[in-house]
Amino acid sequence: MSVTPVLEADVLRRQDPELAEILLGELARQSTTLQLIAAENFTSPAVLAALGSPLANKYAEGYPGARHHGGCEIVDVAERVAVERAKALFGAEHANVQAHSGSSAVLAAYAALLRPGDTVLALGLPYGGHLTHGSPANFSGRWFDFVGYGVDAETGLIDYQQMRSLARTHRPKAIVCGSIAYPRHIDHAFFREVADEVGAYLIADAAHPIGLVAGGAAPNPVPYADVVCATTHKVLRGPRGGMLLCGSELAERVDRAVFPFTQGGAQMHTIAAKAVAFGEAATPAFTAYAHQVVANARVLAAGLAAEGLVVTTGGTDTHLITADPLPLGVDGRVARGQLAAAGLVLDCCALPHGDSRGLRLGTAAVTTQGMGEGEMAGIAALVAGVLRGRVDARSARDEVRDLVGGFPPYPG
Ligand SMILES: *Cc1c(COP(=O)(O)O)cnc(C)c1O
Repeated sequence: MSVTPVLEADVLRRQDPELAEILLGELARQSTTLQLIAAENFTSPAVLAALGSPLANKYAEGYPGARHHGGCEIVDVAERVAVERAKALFGAEHANVQAHSGSSAVLAAYAALLRPGDTVLALGLPYGGHLTHGSPANFSGRWFDFVGYGVDAETGLIDYQQMRSLARTHRPKAIVCGSIAYPRHIDHAFFREVADEVGAYLIADAAHPIGLVAGGAAPNPVPYADVVCATTHKVLRGPRGGMLLCGSELAERVDRAVFPFTQGGAQMHTIAAKAVAFGEAATPAFTAYAHQVVANARVLAAGLAAEGLVVTTGGTDTHLITADPLPLGVDGRVARGQLAAAGLVLDCCALPHGDSRGLRLGTAAVTTQGMGEGEMAGIAALVAGVLRGRVDARSARDEVRDLVGGFPPYPG
C-alpha cells in the first residue's frame, strides 16, 4: 500500500529496505489492529503528502514577511494560509501555528503570560492534568508553583467550587483548564468568571477537544480564554504539532514566546500540513465526522457500562472515555496488556477515586475509518469478552482483523 509519496515512488524501498520495512510494518499494524488511543487519529493522504514534501527542507526562523532566512516567499504563503484558516475555523483574532507540539504550545503560553515562580492553578495530575500542568518531572512543575484542583470522587466531574475556593486562597497568576482524560465539556464561562474575580489569566489547554470544537461538537474556549493551546493531531486529524489562539492584544507576546523565546526555525512542512488539516476541518464532512465521533463514544461508553465496567462520570460528551475494569476482575494496567494482546490498542489512566488504574479510550481514529454505532457496540462486547476471559486472545485478534478489514484507514 502506498500512502506517502516516498513509499509511492518506491525510493525508500530501493535505497533503504530496512526503514521501508519498518514504515510498512507500522502501516500494517495500524491497519490490522484497533486504534482506540484517545489522542490518536488517521491523518488524510493530503496531510501526509504535505508532511512528505520539500517544504521539509526550508529554514524559516521568524514570521511571514519577517524571516531570518532568504527564500521564504513561498513558505510565507503557506504559513499565512494556515494562520488565516485557523483564525476562521475557531473565530480567533490571532493564531500561532508554529508550536512544534501541544507541550510546546503550553510552554509558550506560560512564557507569554508568566514569570518563573508564579502560582498557577490547574487540574491536578492524578485527576487528568497534563505533564505541563505542574508535573515535578516537567519544566512546569520545576519553574512554577502549581496548585491542583480536583474532580469529585463520586461523580468524576470537575469540582468547580473547590477550584474557585483554591483560586481565592492562592491568587494564581493563571488558571489552566483542560485535561488529558476529562470526558465532559468544560464550563469555560465559570472558569472565566473565577479568573476575573482573582485577576488571573485563563489558559485553555484544549489539546483533546479542539477537533470537536472545529466540527461544532464541543464548546469553543476561544471567547473565554486569554490563550488557547491545542494540538493539531488529535481529534483535529492534522499533523503532529501544536498551535495557540488568542486575542490581538496578546498576539505579539504569544508570537515572541514561541519564536525566539522557546523555539527556533518553524517546521514549514508541518505548517503546510496544518493548513491542509484546517481546510479539511472547515468542511461539512468534518462537522459530520465530529458529531459521529461523539455519538460513537456515547455508544461505546454505554456498552462498556452495560458490560460492568465503571465509566467515569457515567458517560461522555466527547471522543474520550475513561473506565474502571476492576469489576471484571482486572485493573487498568493488566487490562491494557490483555487487550493489546488481542489487538485492541488503548491507554491506562488514573481514576478519580485513585485506588487503581483505569482504561482511557477514544473514538477519533475508528470514526475516521468509517465505523459507526453498530461497530462500537461490538467493540464494547469484545473488550468485556477479553477481560472476562470469555474470548481468548487469538480469536479476539481474528475478530479485530475482520472488523478493521472492512474499514481500511487508507483504502487502496
Ligand atoms: C496531548 C496533550 C498535550 C501535549 O501534546 P504533545 O503534542 O504530546 O506535546 C498537552 N496538554 C493536553 C491537555 C494534552 O491532552
